[in-house]
Amino acid sequence: MTGSAIGRVHSVESMGTVDGPGIRFIVFMQGCLLRCQFCHNPDTWKIGTGTERTAQEVFYEAIQYKEFWDASGGGITVSGGEPLLHLDFLIDLFTLCKEAGVHTTIDSCGGCFSRSPKFIDKMDRLLAVTDLIMLDIKQINPAKHRELTTRPNAPILDFAHYLRDHEQPIWIRHVLIPTKTDDPQDLTDLNTFIETLPNVERVEVLPYHTMGVYKWKELGLEYPLEGINAPESPVVEMANELLGTAKYN
Ligand code: SF4
Repeated sequence: MTGSAIGRVHSVESMGTVDGPGIRFIVFMQGCLLRCQFCHNPDTWKIGTGTERTAQEVFYEAIQYKEFWDASGGGITVSGGEPLLHLDFLIDLFTLCKEAGVHTTIDSCGGCFSRSPKFIDKMDRLLAVTDLIMLDIKQINPAKHRELTTRPNAPILDFAHYLRDHEQPIWIRHVLIPTKTDDPQDLTDLNTFIETLPNVERVEVLPYHTMGVYKWKELGLEYPLEGINAPESPVVEMANELLGTAKYN
């Protein structure tokens, strides 16, 4: 029955404004395979925890905000953690959304993407009810990506190609971290990659910030980027320039 799939939800936010167009209901899923050094939600990492909720329950909670979505061009975004670890839940939730005329967005790192027939079958069903994917590309350089996230970036880049081949609209987001992701050569290489994707509708540079550091401390984890501050504005400008963000706005 549509709506009965269960996902493990970390939390929800009723009036988000930065995770997709307009005002959005954001569902943060529990579980992530990456271990990004800059993660501001390390409490979403652990797989198998979070609150078990059906897609229908979450949909009914969200739909109360429909008048805000209609007024602002908003909708529902599923973020994380990593949403793609919950494909059945997403398919059910977004099917209900499309039946109700609600705009649907996934905010993903793409790290668990695979070409296995089982995954692709679900992915295709999900894409049929997904309006937008916000894809984080954290580092285009494979070795630096592994250092920054503990995982390879090959599945993420392959996911971008898959979405291109399916003409799925995407926004690319790149967190700009001094000494980690602000090398002009890396940014130029990232731009070269993005230019191979005609399905990209927007590119955003997100300046690194330290607002999630307290969560690392609460979890008893050592924060790996201690001493690194937010990038200075000339560096942010350089990144915007090299990634050609202005041409998408
Ligand atoms: S992919 Fe997102 S949730 Fe997962 S570790 Fe990285 S920043 Fe955190």
